Amino acid sequence: MRMLVLVALSLAACETMSPTPVSTYRFDNGLWFDGRGFTSATGYIVDGALKFTENNLAAETTIDLGGGYVVPPYCEGHNHNIGGAAEGIEETVERYLQDGVFYAMMPGSFALYRAQIADKLNNPTSVDVAFANNGLTGAGGHPRGLRESLMDRFGLYPEFTKETLPDKGYFEADTLAQLREKWALVLAERPDFIKAMLYFSEEYETRKDDPSHYGRRGLNPALLPELVGLVHDAGLRLAVHVESDADMATALGAGADIIAHLPSYDSTARVSDDTIALAMKTNAAIVTTLTVAKRFEQRSPEVYAKVLEAQRENLVRLDEAGAMLVVGSDNVRDTSRGEAVHLAGLGALDNKTILKMWTENCAQTVFPGRRIGRLQDGYEASFLVLNGDPLEDFSATGKITLRVKDGQILE
Ligand SMILES: [Zn+2]
Repeated sequence: MRMLVLVALSLAACETMSPTPVSTYRFDNGLWFDGRGFTSATGYIVDGALKFTENNLAAETTIDLGGGYVVPPYCEGHNHNIGGAAEGIEETVERYLQDGVFYAMMPGSFALYRAQIADKLNNPTSVDVAFANNGLTGAGGHPRGLRESLMDRFGLYPEFTKETLPDKGYFEADTLAQLREKWALVLAERPDFIKAMLYFSEEYETRKDDPSHYGRRGLNPALLPELVGLVHDAGLRLAVHVESDADMATALGAGADIIAHLPSYDSTARVSDDTIALAMKTNAAIVTTLTVAKRFEQRSPEVYAKVLEAQRENLVRLDEAGAMLVVGSDNVRDTSRGEAVHLAGLGALDNKTILKMWTENCAQTVFPGRRIGRLQDGYEASFLVLNGDPLEDFSATGKITLRVKDGQILE
């Protein structure tokens, strides 16, 4: 009897020592996406993190979600519209938040512009961005030709000339010695991840010195294993630009962490069974960027139809194998919203798969160390509320009625 009293007393003491947590927000009547479907739950924000409990917690503010569908924030797995210039950053951030895209990966940006806009990013009322800064390529390789032509045609990068662009707008290396030399410069810019270019690497030797392939060649594929070692030793991840199935196989075989484009992003290339097997072995993230093909839509409808066929086939086979597919657009005039809508329109994947590629898979690829991309206890309190079920009708992903980022409601 005396023992029982003591136990009861000590339990009471414990309770007073750890009072019930006070939440900043309580969200009633929401249907929360749990990765499989939507379930009714009361969600709280406690210490900036999500909490789901049957117990009634005290809350500073209670919000009635009115049967709204709650999804993790969307994410952009590949773009260049942040860090490619300093001007217009406010409008770009506004566009991302409007579209519900809270996380973004920039595989190719300028360290100069990144520094100029740093105070406008990675805070509760802005987009969280991971930058590769500039990537490694071969002499005269991609993106050198592209950057030079953007300079000539549109006056981009006014702080630079074609002569000052090397080591600022791209890093070129053809030999192991050059790679090591450039690596020190790459690291000095404090990238969040590393980008390298393969560009029909199966033709590396013939493209290397051929003027007709200026800007359409990449890094010596023989350097890739060395580069992966340097990247991983620095605690970073390597994203590789690929064009062909051979590029993708070379990148995966060397241990790349991210494939920055799915072959067939603007061609009829098919991903081979061997390459899919390699992707499954390494669990590399594969970023789609399939809207790039839209350049053919008006110009050459027959080509466009064939590219879409290849895109559908590649997506179905990679999804069936269980590959880590990520939504990314590579479209500087858009966020990943257009890419997600394009994917839904292809009819190759169901809405749930695309939603997970756009939220969980992408968020985990952009910031692998953070608890984001899922609506679970302890995850960062960031989400969107939709006026409609996106699993039934994908257009509901655009009907955003509430945006919450880092525990704050965005106006
Ligand atoms: Zn790109």
